Amino acid sequence: MFRVFVRPNAVVSRSFRLSPAVKFESTAANNDEPIFDMENPFEKEKPQCLLCRLKIIPDYKNVKLLSQFQSPYTGRIYGKHITGLCEAQQKLVEAEIVKAQSCGLMAAYLKEPCYLKDPKLFDADNPIRPHRF
Ligand SMILES: [Zn+2]
Repeated sequence: MFRVFVRPNAVVSRSFRLSPAVKFESTAANNDEPIFDMENPFEKEKPQCLLCRLKIIPDYKNVKLLSQFQSPYTGRIYGKHITGLCEAQQKLVEAEIVKAQSCGLMAAYLKEPCYLKDPKLFDADNPIRPHRF
């Protein structure tokens, strides 16, 4: 009915799978056999934003972190194209900044001077697309 011919050093495509009943004996002498249950070595790593990668959940009480997403000149919140955050994290950061500002923990029209020397999480001068502030 259905025969499978496999040459000893043949490259087996990933879509081609043998049934589990077909098993090869792996001995020290037969180490050149193809490996069937192998994860894709060419699979690209899923790109993650800064906060997802470090598993940081932005909180309105963490003003030091939130102020890093604020422009030191105008106090505006940087956009997604500057911060490089994913949609969900950007929305969360913006909501938490507004929450912190309404609580009086964060300034709205300027960055607190004590946070001006904090390390930069991203380069605001070279955004993905140009911005006007
Ligand atoms: Zn993310």
